[in-house]
Amino acid sequence: FTVLGIESSCDDTGAAILRSDGTILGESLASQHSIHQPWGGVVPSLAKSAHEDNIDNVIQTALSNANMKIEEVDAIGVTVGPGLEICLRVGCERAKDLALRYNKPFVGIHHLEAHILMARISPEKYNNTSIPSDKSMSRAMEFPFLALLVSGGHCQIMKAHGIGQYSIIGGTLDDSLGEAFDKTARLLGLPVGGGGGPAIEKLARTGDPTSIALPIPLQKRKDCDFSYAGLKTAVRLASEKLCIERDVESAEQLSENDKANIAASFQHTAFRHLEIRLNRAMVIVSKEDERISTLAVVGGVAANNELRSRLEKLCLDRNDPWKLCVPPPRLCTDQGAMSAWAAVERLLVGSSDSAEGQEVFARYPFVDMDSST
Ligand code: ATP
Ligand code: FE
Repeated sequence: FTVLGIESSCDDTGAAILRSDGTILGESLASQHSIHQPWGGVVPSLAKSAHEDNIDNVIQTALSNANMKIEEVDAIGVTVGPGLEICLRVGCERAKDLALRYNKPFVGIHHLEAHILMARISPEKYNNTSIPSDKSMSRAMEFPFLALLVSGGHCQIMKAHGIGQYSIIGGTLDDSLGEAFDKTARLLGLPVGGGGGPAIEKLARTGDPTSIALPIPLQKRKDCDFSYAGLKTAVRLASEKLCIERDVESAEQLSENDKANIAASFQHTAFRHLEIRLNRAMVIVSKEDERISTLAVVGGVAANNELRSRLEKLCLDRNDPWKLCVPPPRLCTDQGAMSAWAAVERLLVGSSDSAEGQEVFARYPFVDMDSST
């Protein structure tokens, strides 16, 4: 079967048509980067009107890229939370309209579950429409597994037991990792459209990660939680010190080389913190449940190549090597395929929602999710 997925939780309007084996038949994404760039962050009211302007076109483009008409899709999935309420509502109302008008099954998608489930699509399925349909329903990995979600709004380690069944074993005490990247990018005056992550990653490649000593957060706490607020302050103080040494007024005026050193040192310390917490989680989880030996890394920051190779090493360099599953970079950040794929996974376990009366949720607690409807 095929599913139309719609995503509008933040500043990207996305739609995609997926076949139930994970093959992306058509997709479309309207990014609002240039709209929010002058403001240094996402402005909800501007995001909402951009979603309204783009949503029909994005859906139509995804359909025509798939060579399909709306009548031909078998179900509709849409992000219903968490996210910006006025933005979620644009996608959700459109999806409800379509589901009711064309009498299609409807699935209200949890955005974080959608990020996680992307790691289950078999790699050979991405974009490969030449594979005969639905022949192989194999997954990149089976439940249970450990998941690291590193996105713009979240930083969590979870045990994934099944669709709709997740238990959190570590979370952030303050900022998310994506936020830390965005704030560091802003400090250095880098473009933050689409998040500052890609700009920091690029700059960090030419810098020396050991040039600026930054403290690794939460060294004394032997749990799996994260903290990125202190690192953000340490980066700011270090760059202020450098500004005095170089006799410039702000970090933006530092040389490319100095900026690259700050970016590389920040990224290295941020990832070191992640590795330490993750390694602890892997040890704990292996002891509790020896079936678990797969790590899924998902969310926007998972698009970072340095992170991908470091975590690959973390998984392999153990007595009991783990398998690592990370979606391709473009599927780590928000887009329509994630809503479509999460809907496929829900439908395959017999779970769907009623379009009528579906609400959106700015906050949407991850535990106690009930997908047994
Ligand atoms: P959430 O999913 O928690 O609701 P979101 O949807 O806004 O938040 P995502 O789209 O998953 O977040 O990810 C966006 C974040 O990923 C931004 O903070 C961005 O800086 C970060 N990011 C994207 N690409 C990279 C990269 N290459 N390196 C580091 N960070 C990155
Ligand atoms: Fe997201």
